[in-house]
Amino acid sequence: MVINENLTTKVLGEYDAVVVGAGPAGCGAALALGRAGMKTLLIEKFNCLGGAWTTGFMNPFFDCHSKTGIVHELVEELKSAGHFGGFWDISFNYEYMKFFLEKKLQEANVEILYNTTFSRTLIDEKRVYGIVAENIEGRFAVLAKTVFDCTGDGNVAASAGCPFELGVDGDYKECQAMTLMFLVGNIPEKYKDGLMIYEKLNAVYEKGGKQIPFRVPYLIPVPNSHFGVIQFTHMYEYDPLNAKALTRATMEGRQQLIDAFEFLTKYDEEFKDLELITSSSVLGVRESRRILGEYRMSTDDILTGASFDDAVAYVTFGADLHTKSNKGQNCFQVQPYQIPLRALIPQGYKGIVVAGRCISGSREAMASYRVTGNCAQMGENAGYYVAEAIKQNVDVLDVKLNLPLIYT
Ligand SMILES: Cc1cc2nc3c(=O)[nH]c(=O)nc-3n(C[C@H](O)[C@H](O)[C@H](O)COP(=O)(O)OP(=O)(O)OC[C@H]3O[C@@H](n4cnc5c(N)ncnc54)[C@H](O)[C@@H]3O)c2cc1C
Repeated sequence: MVINENLTTKVLGEYDAVVVGAGPAGCGAALALGRAGMKTLLIEKFNCLGGAWTTGFMNPFFDCHSKTGIVHELVEELKSAGHFGGFWDISFNYEYMKFFLEKKLQEANVEILYNTTFSRTLIDEKRVYGIVAENIEGRFAVLAKTVFDCTGDGNVAASAGCPFELGVDGDYKECQAMTLMFLVGNIPEKYKDGLMIYEKLNAVYEKGGKQIPFRVPYLIPVPNSHFGVIQFTHMYEYDPLNAKALTRATMEGRQQLIDAFEFLTKYDEEFKDLELITSSSVLGVRESRRILGEYRMSTDDILTGASFDDAVAYVTFGADLHTKSNKGQNCFQVQPYQIPLRALIPQGYKGIVVAGRCISGSREAMASYRVTGNCAQMGENAGYYVAEAIKQNVDVLDVKLNLPLIYT
């Protein structure tokens, strides 16, 4: 059954660029656009910047070494404020990450709208010219020369009708596991720099009489604190594009984290005083849409260290696939490689750029570039390309820039 609605939608404003989603990719893009003098609006459905970085309690800051731009700036600012280091020397405090991002984007004159949810892409033929969103004020439209899809899931591109890949040949059951991260307090001093916590969890699960869901769990403390996150729950074979499936996965994650917390405090002497703080308000989805672009990153590209004239990111992080078959991770090294702007431009479409984990690539390539340092860098540099295209009044694919990617 369907209903047809006849809607009149007010236009909130006209912008050079609208960025949907304030994760690492969206923050990078908005920062570059703002710094380049573009009138930029960033909309985000939660009430902070950072996306999975902050709302999702993701740590550590992978692939943050030797990068230019926002990644370098954040590392330096977090370090000098005493909120960086600890686990693998690259972990950070979530609240300070939110704070520094907000400060930067405000300084760059980016207009930010929190608690605002994207609902539909405005498109004429294959040219995107804006979006419709909703918030406390109701439904509204925003017009823009370029719309950035930084939703992680490629929601804007999908709404525009852009083709995408999912799992293996469209089978979502092959997508990587989902994880509900959870914060714990009162971490014993001896584990203040973190712990691969499998042996402990396996032992307490045996005592608790349940099957352990994942074999490579980590306790990741926030630097200079006694609290941190446990990366443990693993939910397999849920459809990342189905609301009911995401709800069921979240509930399964909550059951898993309660089991883990109760078994640890009951059966492990070292963790008897551990405190459960909260689970993340967003489910961690590692893999969903991969929007087909003007270029598709292949597995060969990441194994051979591909480089491109229109490079927007430099990636060193290995491929990391959380697969059901071994209740663990299949990881392999990559040859440091670049990602071209073309992998961020949906094939045949204009006025839209996709940045973050949902760009065009094989599953294996995505398993490498999906981490936060890479998403932030590609978003930022794509922002500079788009700003230049708007200034020159040309198509973004005709812009020639030679952006520095490695901090020296
Ligand atoms: C369990 C798990 C653990 C991970 N661990 C690490 C780690 O330790 N280190 C690391 O570097 N990376 C880690 N990653 C990977 C990394 O967190 C993500 O791949 C990365 O954050 C993706 O960045 P993004 O900007 O593409 O999307 P996201 O970070 O997902 O940001 C997307 C943003 O868009 C917003 N949004 C979505 N839809 C809408 C809408 N309709 N309207 C408005 N806003 C919307 C979201 O609220 C969010 O803020 C992990 C991922 C998972 C799932």
